[in-house]
Amino acid sequence: MQLSNRITTLLGDGHDGWGLYLKSREMIDAGIPVIELTIGEHDIRTHPDILNAMHKSALGGHTGYAAVPGVTALRQAVAARVQDRTGVPTTIDNVLITPGGQSALFSSHHAVCDEGDTALFIDPYYATYPATLRAVGAIATPVAAHARDNFEPQAEAIAKHAKGAKSLLINTPNNPTGVVYSRATLKGIADVCRENDLWLISDEVYDTQIWQGEHLSPRALPDMAQRTLVVGSMSKSHAMTGSRIGWIVAPEEAIEHLSNLATHTTYGVPGYIQDAALFALEQGPPLEAEIAAPFARRREIAMRVLDGQNVVKHLPAMGAMYLMLDVHATGMSGEEFGHALLDNEHIAVMPGNSFGQSAAGHIRVAMTVEDGVFGQALERLVGFAKGLAG
Ligand code: PMP
Repeated sequence: MQLSNRITTLLGDGHDGWGLYLKSREMIDAGIPVIELTIGEHDIRTHPDILNAMHKSALGGHTGYAAVPGVTALRQAVAARVQDRTGVPTTIDNVLITPGGQSALFSSHHAVCDEGDTALFIDPYYATYPATLRAVGAIATPVAAHARDNFEPQAEAIAKHAKGAKSLLINTPNNPTGVVYSRATLKGIADVCRENDLWLISDEVYDTQIWQGEHLSPRALPDMAQRTLVVGSMSKSHAMTGSRIGWIVAPEEAIEHLSNLATHTTYGVPGYIQDAALFALEQGPPLEAEIAAPFARRREIAMRVLDGQNVVKHLPAMGAMYLMLDVHATGMSGEEFGHALLDNEHIAVMPGNSFGQSAAGHIRVAMTVEDGVFGQALERLVGFAKGLAG
């Protein structure tokens, strides 16, 4: 029997660099102690108070089908949070609760792209982007952002691909680069979207992790609310990766249709998860700051280790839980360096090219292990690179 073309070609040829991750997993399974700086998973678990709220809700009977667009109180809390942060009037009719940001990315593209439409995204990119766009039948088209521009996408480069395209996906604070897009960059992006009638899908799942600069949601720029779908998630902000809870904030008409799509795909998000998410949002910025704090500390540690040497160059780590390091001076590709580091130092990182060609010659380091271990790992990484560079 023949499976669909769409599903059998989902991954395309974009699986470069993941061999390293798999190799580190095999070493760990074989009992070799590897320091894992690969995946964007917190080293803390969901806060016990959030779990208590989940437990209470489930025991209280919220275990049946929950309202598909999301329970009203949670939609209200998300609308209020987004309005507070952006100044854009936002009601529950602008909010769909989704099982995580990933589902929100898929559904958003489903809402704006027809089969064969061109969907733009910025390279370097979060690993799932190309296949997510292909999954809705769109032609996933990368637009390169360059290290020389701090990996901020340039409006002219987007404009070159924008003619006839349907949508543009951006992500700030950015995974994998740790860059927070400047106001000027976002204004340039908004101009291109308006001039070319593009939908903008704005992935803001790291909006609570800002170390430098400020996070600006492009939905707040003039005339952008009507063409922007914001993807949000509680995975990173509340260490709730396994709860699968996120949202889309978009024009009312889009939410109406997205709600129909949810009815025919996920049938919503479990009620006790939504109640736990509501409790978490009600704790406000203090809880978000507590969850972001370890990354802020480790970023300081990293800056101390990386400053005062120039073999491993680093971008200003402005946000999110990652560092993007340039290892060209070792004479190796990011992938070669990653393998050598794993073999010799038992430290696992992601090669830049697993996030697109623009990040080749780089490695991504996730700041997801305890401070002391993290500092030592970085020192060893720098020492190893210096040895290679001679
Ligand atoms: N967007 C970005 C940029 C991410 O890094 C991730 C997760 N690593 C997601 C979306 C999806 O997150 P989730 O589905 O857990 O909300």
